[in-house]
Amino acid sequence: MRRRLVPLLAALFMAVTGTVTGAVAAAEPVATEPSVADVAPADACYTWNRTLREGMSGSDVTQLQIRVAGWVASGENLVLDGVFGPATKRAVTRFQSGYGLGADGIAGSQTYSKIYELQDNDCTPIHFAYSEFDDNCGANNFNGGKVSAATAKENIRRVMWQLEAVRRKLGDRPLNITSGFRSVSCNSSVGGSPSSLHMYGQAADLGLSNPPQCTMWNGGKTAGFEELLGPGYPGHNDHVHMANRSSRFWSAPNC
Ligand SMILES: [Zn+2]
Repeated sequence: MRRRLVPLLAALFMAVTGTVTGAVAAAEPVATEPSVADVAPADACYTWNRTLREGMSGSDVTQLQIRVAGWVASGENLVLDGVFGPATKRAVTRFQSGYGLGADGIAGSQTYSKIYELQDNDCTPIHFAYSEFDDNCGANNFNGGKVSAATAKENIRRVMWQLEAVRRKLGDRPLNITSGFRSVSCNSSVGGSPSSLHMYGQAADLGLSNPPQCTMWNGGKTAGFEELLGPGYPGHNDHVHMANRSSRFWSAPNC
């Protein structure tokens, strides 16, 4: 007993004092991720209280899904259903790879730390704000659409997280939002389609300063956007339109 206790105490002493020797380092356990509870939230948005992995479900899974929805395979669309299935695992894995984290598809402290770093207090991603999407023909609100203002805002927040992924995958290049939510009257005054998803807060138009238009259009494919319109599609030679809908409609004849 005493023979085991002495090196143990020595190791403990060195760990406490910060002394590092070859012998002690060899005896120390491999560094593990800090527990989820030890990770302080970076802001007032949302805090995860447990590690999430495939097979689990709950509202915390939905919150995670919203933030990784832009990390799908081309043409894939992550369902925000609160069920951590194989598709959610793949999206989490891509998110982790995209930010240089260990990619195991399990959302633990490292993944949450990155998400906390990426989100503002109002739960929008750091590179986008509601104010970029609420011009609404000068009204600066989310009123007068086909859904309530609260629903439009929530839909736009989801779009923002997908755009955050597009931005990251295109090399951290800023994206210029030229149109987001539109009321019904605003939409008709700018010549939008009578069924435009801009009236639901489910669409965003990206201006063309940088990156190239077709690069941007293609970038939307792996971010869960089922409606993608770009160069060559009528009225879309000066922006890329990305939107969420249930069925696929991708068109950019000049790409
Ligand atoms: Zn549009």
